Amino acid sequence: MRENKVVYGLIGYGGMGRWHTEILSNVPEAVIGGIYDIKEEKREEAKAKGFSVYETEEAMLADSDIDVVLIATPNDCHKPIAIRAMHAGKNVISEKPVTLSSADLLEMEKVAKETGKLFTVHQNRRWDDDFLIIKKLVEEQKLGHVFRIESRVHGSRGIPGDWRKEKVHGGGMVLDWGVHLLDQILYMYGDRKIETVYASLTNITNQEVDDGFTAILTFEGGTEVLVEVGTNNYISLPRWYVLGKDGTAVIRDWQLTGEIIRKTGKTEETVIPVKTAAGLTKTMAPRREDTIVKEDLPKVSGDIADFHRNVVAVIRDGAEPEIKLFQVMRVMKLMEAIFQAAETKQVIEFQDQV
Ligand code: NAD
Repeated sequence: MRENKVVYGLIGYGGMGRWHTEILSNVPEAVIGGIYDIKEEKREEAKAKGFSVYETEEAMLADSDIDVVLIATPNDCHKPIAIRAMHAGKNVISEKPVTLSSADLLEMEKVAKETGKLFTVHQNRRWDDDFLIIKKLVEEQKLGHVFRIESRVHGSRGIPGDWRKEKVHGGGMVLDWGVHLLDQILYMYGDRKIETVYASLTNITNQEVDDGFTAILTFEGGTEVLVEVGTNNYISLPRWYVLGKDGTAVIRDWQLTGEIIRKTGKTEETVIPVKTAAGLTKTMAPRREDTIVKEDLPKVSGDIADFHRNVVAVIRDGAEPEIKLFQVMRVMKLMEAIFQAAETKQVIEFQDQV
């Protein structure tokens, strides 16, 4: 601790490492004590930005000034670095996905328990505005009983980066984007058990690891959730599509364009059929205007710096971590069930422990 500020040591100064330095600049209760990257050019880059730089990981872990080590390296490095850091007496934040399997996570949890250190994961997309809007709609039962949620991210650039294409580094879209989308759903439905999981993976632009997937989760109480990541989608489907008994909500994109359509309670005695190419249909006919109402999405906005504010509060004041290990484990086991379902083409009975 330096003048009551929590001192961060950042390991990995790539895309996400740089982004953390920006987020942390909005958290006055935290300060970056120094940065280590395995590549000299990255250390030089950090130095040029005015940061103190360590020449080795050991040097950072030996520095008693550092309170918390933030790991922003490729996925396969999180576990060994986190374990070394906790053994060196440091609190640890790992980037997502925390590691590559639930067995690995169990080992990391054991070390956290033995050392008594904070060990948490940067599941930052719990602070995404689009997610917070959907969470509010569901919690306030704006749409009545929600029977289906579809959460998608679509792009057309294939699987990115070098290490993200490689299995040994924990590549693939389930571990990359899936971990965010699944964490959002499980956080929103923290107290509802998942009953079954079915999934398929895609390998359109890359063979070694999945470059996309579709997973269907059924929850107790009758809600089906579709989670999908696509990287070869030249037309994107909406980010969120939520179906309730009394209405439907859509969020189309990151700009939060979308709306809610709800029924007013007025009924149509006689429905005028609509003409389709080969026949007439009443079932699919548009509704009379006074039977539905269009509403704006609620305004909710998150602040990603709250993640680090929480870490500071945990370290300084003993607050509860926002991202808890049992939640991270639940997501990890769900990702394993997704891989199993895709491989076996079977619906998996999920042994959920909520
Ligand atoms: P990146 O390739 O841009 O950067 C990784 C950096 O780690 C590189 O500079 C590399 O030299 C360094 N590195 C590799 N092995 C190292 C080691 N053993 N010790 C020290 N440095 C090492 O990757 P990225 O996009 O920044 O991703 C890093 C992590 O952040 C990944 O786990 C990724 O999943 C995660 N991430 C999270 C989000 C989010 O929104 N939470 C977004 C992007 C990436």
